[in-house]
Amino acid sequence: MSPLDHLIARIDVDGPMSLADYMAECLLNPRFGYYTTRDPLGAAGDFTTAPEISQMFGELLGLCLAQSWLDQGAPAPFTLAELGPGRGTLMADLLRATRAVPGFHAALELHLVEASPTLREAQAKALTGFEPIWHDIIDSLPQQPLFLVANEFFDALPVRQFLRDGTSWREKRIGMQNGTLTFGLGPVTEQPALSHRLEDTREGDLVELCEGAAPITAAIATRIAAHGGAALIVDYGDWRSLGDTLQALRDHAPCDPLEAPGSADLTTHVDFEVLTQAAQAHGCTATRLTPQGVFLERLGITDRARALAAPLEGDALDNLIAAHRRLTHPEEMGNLFKVLGLYPGNATPPPGLQS
Ligand code: SAH
Repeated sequence: MSPLDHLIARIDVDGPMSLADYMAECLLNPRFGYYTTRDPLGAAGDFTTAPEISQMFGELLGLCLAQSWLDQGAPAPFTLAELGPGRGTLMADLLRATRAVPGFHAALELHLVEASPTLREAQAKALTGFEPIWHDIIDSLPQQPLFLVANEFFDALPVRQFLRDGTSWREKRIGMQNGTLTFGLGPVTEQPALSHRLEDTREGDLVELCEGAAPITAAIATRIAAHGGAALIVDYGDWRSLGDTLQALRDHAPCDPLEAPGSADLTTHVDFEVLTQAAQAHGCTATRLTPQGVFLERLGITDRARALAAPLEGDALDNLIAAHRRLTHPEEMGNLFKVLGLYPGNATPPPGLQS
């Protein structure tokens, strides 16, 4: 059965589905899900992420977490965790850069939260010698100090979309028309989870609701509040988004999200307000939202780039300069991507971030 036939059969039985259910099927269905069945990253794939652009990204995030670990008295043992590690590149760079931090490697237990069997294989290869423990969901991470990174993880979580109708909402849903998938609208419903959006929306405006984001952030925050630690969450988005931010990418180009389900990456902007509030409600301090470019500059990416550039010339040098620009420049990833840090109230914020 093709992915489209599977979705049609499901719609036949249950009626039109929410965008969240559609995203979950397209991205994570065990048989045809986009992430479950392929490695989508890099030049040969559909999209490129910061750690795939340059080793500097993982190195600097690693040193930032290691400094937080030192600032908190070097607790041992501790969980070093990543959500959605992709090819394992960020973690490999992080681990290489922190080798020189006394005691860090001896104290860490490496835990990876990853839904995709294909990407777990890639991670195992990239992290040979470190014996990671994989988790399907975050709740099974141990109860001990937690130092965590998540880059472009929250943007892959399923979202529901709603159109405002008076002080109520109609959900955008995916149904069938003449044998093809189409967007439609569900009935008018009350949505208590969206009551705060009555303040900043007007009739007909579209808002998004990522129901998975708060529980995942709460699971991180409860561990950090109880045992110490820090989290660096990097993603594209802002405090609160308005309008349709769903993006489908295939072969590095935007495409129709309903065309060829399971064959394109589907993401939406992250609402960092939801993450911040969930962290605070579970005893953590959240830093101010900081543009990725500002954060990396504060951590010394330009000095690191100069050091890496010293022996290079020709294309290799041009590539390094382009990578530095791509990660930091406001017209590239520097401003679109934001960093949120979480840490215990009695500790200092992770380097490069302020509360
Ligand atoms: N962090 C990596 C990869 C980003 S792509 C990088 O920056 O290159 C998103 C990653 O999250 C993939 O590894 C994908 O398989 C994983 N993922 C997506 N949804 C998930 C979920 N619900 N649970 C666990 N992992 C998920």
